[in-house]
Amino acid sequence: MSESRTADLRGPWDAVVVGHGFSGLTAAKAHLEGAANEGRTARVAGVESASFENRGGSTRWTTAVLSLTPEQELIPFWGERVRETAGELANDAYIDAFYRLVPETLRWLQRNGISFDNHQGMWSVHGGGASVVETFPDQIRAAGGQIFYDTTALALVRGDDGGIVGIDVRDVRGATVRMDTRAVILASGGFEGNAEWLTRYIPGAYKLRTVSPGTRNNRGDGIRMAVEAGADTAGQFDGAHVEPCDPRSDAVEPMVPAYWWGILINREGDRFMDEAADLQMIHFDTVGNTILRTQGNLAFAIVSDPQSKLIVRIPGVHQTEVNPIEAETIEELAQKLGVAPDRLRRTVDEFNAATPDPVGFDPAALLDGLGTSGVFPPKSNFATALIEGPFRAWPVSGQICFTYGGLRVDGDAHVLDLFGQPIPGLYAAGEIAGIFYEQYPAGTSGLRSMTFGRWAGITSSREIPALSRTV
Ligand SMILES: Cc1cc2nc3c(=O)[nH]c(=O)nc-3n(C[C@H](O)[C@H](O)[C@H](O)COP(=O)(O)OP(=O)(O)OC[C@H]3O[C@@H](n4cnc5c(N)ncnc54)[C@H](O)[C@@H]3O)c2cc1C
Repeated sequence: MSESRTADLRGPWDAVVVGHGFSGLTAAKAHLEGAANEGRTARVAGVESASFENRGGSTRWTTAVLSLTPEQELIPFWGERVRETAGELANDAYIDAFYRLVPETLRWLQRNGISFDNHQGMWSVHGGGASVVETFPDQIRAAGGQIFYDTTALALVRGDDGGIVGIDVRDVRGATVRMDTRAVILASGGFEGNAEWLTRYIPGAYKLRTVSPGTRNNRGDGIRMAVEAGADTAGQFDGAHVEPCDPRSDAVEPMVPAYWWGILINREGDRFMDEAADLQMIHFDTVGNTILRTQGNLAFAIVSDPQSKLIVRIPGVHQTEVNPIEAETIEELAQKLGVAPDRLRRTVDEFNAATPDPVGFDPAALLDGLGTSGVFPPKSNFATALIEGPFRAWPVSGQICFTYGGLRVDGDAHVLDLFGQPIPGLYAAGEIAGIFYEQYPAGTSGLRSMTFGRWAGITSSREIPALSRTV
């Protein structure tokens, strides 16, 4: 970066957006548009710690399944579950704003060149998150914004009146540069890429791989910076979205869905959890977390031959490409897995004896209530005996997608301080906003990142005139 480039970086700016995923790109674009609608030309800079080639964080790698109704509204179930699991910690303002803003966000995305697919009732972003990473930067530049790659946000600067007046960044040469700005929008994800920080909350987290390469770029910088500047936190810091994946695969998010139809065993050959306790979109996270937290992050999913034919390839969802380990008998399979054959035989016999009559089994049902009786742990749905070989097994380990702990925000994407007051000029959107406890109803992390990214852009552009200080 030349000296003039460093001077460019200094600004002054109206808004600096930290991060180049769903939330950062939508925020930058919406801020520019909001100002233009009021007859102003906004000075907006995006800073992204990754190189141009590695830009886009998790967003670049997601197929971006969206939990929407056929009418393209956020599913009611999401709010019910998030409120239920958070209890008195639920962020009602955020949840209500999410429901209100989703339809207009989707229309806005469509006006800006993003389209949506619907496969068998399941919505996703056409082209996945990469379509936003590819499409939005040119639009941001065309509207007068600038994007600085290889530029890492380090610290926020608050002025005498408490409002944001700047942000220190490390530029591509390693020099620290202060960017003068009236507003900062933090869109830098959670701390899922920071093994040291994760281990403070989740013992054994060093065993966690991230579900994508871009996910590793999210190291909690935005959370740290805001907390150092007086922000409050929210969300469960020892909670994370962890997915059951095949550790043999180097592919992105190589999920193993087989446990749903068969059984899950640990290295001793014992079952250790209900394999189908809740809707699949909820339960896969519980499975990933349980394997990590109780089984040293390794288990095996086993199915019989008829069960393996029921494994549904869900459109838009990644699955492992590595073939299962196969054997004609349970004992032979146990040997291949390094599990004691007599122990696995006993586990399978006990499970089989507890399964109901399979008449009426419907593989397309969300849950079928056909559970075991008289075995612990129970299996609440899709409990069919493992009788007919060949038997197939996949190793399963948890891989991390994002962390639940983050910044406390209101429904307008303001970052709140320890007294519940907005820090003037500071906004946050995407994974960095802490709202989840115990559970993440899937198909909404990308959606909330785009929804609150856009809203942070709109809110900040509206508030800029009132934020005029030293710049
Ligand atoms: C493989 C995969 C599949 C997924 N599937 C789904 C799905 O189907 N549905 C769904 O809803 N969600 C899904 N998700 C989750 C969803 O994609 C993410 O939660 C969402 O994209 C996060 O957006 P974000 O803008 O908050 O963060 P990101 O897109 O991760 O962007 C954060 C950016 O901040 C940058 N950054 C970090 N620190 C700094 C710093 N100090 N200075 C400058 N820049 C910094 C990073 O480099 C990164 O570019 C999936 C994620 C992955 C990886």
